[in-house]
Amino acid sequence: MKDELLAHNNVLELIGNTPLIKLNRITSNLIGNFYAKVEGFNPGHSTKDRIALYIIEEAERKGILTPGDTIVETTSGNTGFSLAMVSILKGYECILAVSSKSSKDKIDMLKTMGAKVYVCPANVSADDPRSYYQVAKKIHSEIKGSVYINQYFNELNIDAHYKSTGPEIWKQTAGRITHLVACSGTGGTISGIGRFLKEQNKDVKVIGIDAYGSVLKKYHETREFDVNEIYPYRIEGLGKNLIPTATDFDNIDQFIKVTDESSAHTARELAKTEGLFVGYTSGAAMQGLKQLDESGVFNEDSVVVVVFPDHGSRYMSKVYSDDWMEQQGFFDAKNTETAPIEYIK
Ligand code: PMP
Repeated sequence: MKDELLAHNNVLELIGNTPLIKLNRITSNLIGNFYAKVEGFNPGHSTKDRIALYIIEEAERKGILTPGDTIVETTSGNTGFSLAMVSILKGYECILAVSSKSSKDKIDMLKTMGAKVYVCPANVSADDPRSYYQVAKKIHSEIKGSVYINQYFNELNIDAHYKSTGPEIWKQTAGRITHLVACSGTGGTISGIGRFLKEQNKDVKVIGIDAYGSVLKKYHETREFDVNEIYPYRIEGLGKNLIPTATDFDNIDQFIKVTDESSAHTARELAKTEGLFVGYTSGAAMQGLKQLDESGVFNEDSVVVVVFPDHGSRYMSKVYSDDWMEQQGFFDAKNTETAPIEYIK
């Protein structure tokens, strides 16, 4: 009898089941046990592969989507990439409205993956007709048979994580997890994982990472949508200028805010200490974890899982560019933390 081929049928079979990796050096001065759920191991290099596949397959199951139909979405990049990837394999058109804050690399990647891209101004209110929400809605209303993924207001975004990422983390920690630390953008990741974990053990603490310039933390604490909290910031994919219904605020215990600068440095520190080349919001999540440690949230028995949403390769012209860091005033050129490049002539 011949051995069977050990090949996957296509790239979609590799979505999910990402590794949980112990953090050793960056946590050496922290109290507790720390593990990272590294979502950059998904084939589309981010956690958004999970929601793209789940939401599209739910629409197929309900008979809403048939081959040749169009998928429309607003996205800071990652969801777009994942939707474009799934669309290619399943035979859909993909149209994406993205924020002008997204890196050029991300936009070029979406184009490469066959998507049609509209770039919309970042610093306009969500109800402005130029905002990426309104642009996507308009496209959806104009194309018959299109499906609007609407990740900020789609309960399936939560379900995708409730059914995959949550159970994976529970199993990978043998049910010993005490704290989940995760960024909140649409809120799908933290809400889905958080809901699953709290159903297994109501004492698990769920902590959201928010940006300065976003309304989420204040809304969580006061249920007030305060426009004064809104101002531009650099981190892409984290925090919000609206209240997404894909965020289950009741299942989140606490939000903390992190700065653009500290998050950028911490992302770089993860590469240098753990060999983990992860995205800007992974740096933000790790930075939040450090701040939680400083405020005495963890003890020696704590088993803390921090979610790293995407891969570092998406930020070459931003956090991992010394020039960009310098332009932001995050360090001066004489004091870069990376070894200078030596040119041999
Ligand atoms: N990090 C990155 C890089 C993202 O693109 C997103 C999604 N906006 C998040 C974190 C936040 O994840 P979620 O939308 O599930 O809250």
